[in-house]
Amino acid sequence: RKITIAIDGFSSTGKSTVAKKLAKALGYIYVDTGAMYRAVTLFALENGFFKEDVLDKSALIKSLVTIQLQFKFNEETQQSDIHLNGKNVEKEIRTLRVSNKVSPVATVPEVREKLVAMQQRMGKDKGVVMDGRDIGTVVFPEAELKLFMTASPEKRASRRYKELLDRGDKVTYEEVLKNVQERDRIDSTRETSPLRQAVDAVPFDNSDMGLEEQFERIHQFALR
Ligand code: C5P
Repeated sequence: RKITIAIDGFSSTGKSTVAKKLAKALGYIYVDTGAMYRAVTLFALENGFFKEDVLDKSALIKSLVTIQLQFKFNEETQQSDIHLNGKNVEKEIRTLRVSNKVSPVATVPEVREKLVAMQQRMGKDKGVVMDGRDIGTVVFPEAELKLFMTASPEKRASRRYKELLDRGDKVTYEEVLKNVQERDRIDSTRETSPLRQAVDAVPFDNSDMGLEEQFERIHQFALR
């Protein structure tokens, strides 16, 4: 029996790392919904929809129909990369430039409507592990297993900081911490689908847990 696994939580809680590992172990597909919001944000940046840091929502809404998103398997990394209108943007969407602009894009109801519909199609009747902010509450409220991941802001910022340094991004820890906190604030207070724990979600604080331990525990939940 294949189930739907929803993994929601704050930014940089390591959702995607454990979700990927879990999907692989179960033979399920993995969908990184944050990558989709990031790709739309990159599109908005590339098309000049941010004017002095303010998003021109109506311009973005008008061009939503021209945005095509696809996940394609990358043989080299053995992971799925997101493609925006035919171009692999997996690396670009992880930069701080995109991270700093994604939350306002994710508040636009029309953007969410489009992406939620895509996510529901991708996960329908399949074994799927999907990570995001509203998977257990909006995308798959009927998911058999829901997890809500948390960790202290400092732990999360230092994890994300290391990742960005490894990629050669020139950032400071303070910039990353500020971005993580600001995104959490906007994500939890926005009107449309704010980040919140589904009533039937299992809270999971991984502040002091390595990947193996997280995986073992969540794998056990999934097999129940
Ligand atoms: O998961 P990640 O940090 O890559 O997500 C980037 C941003 O996309 C989040 O800060 C949030 O604003 C938005 N997002 C969302 N709903 C989702 C996934 C991501 O609003 N399901």
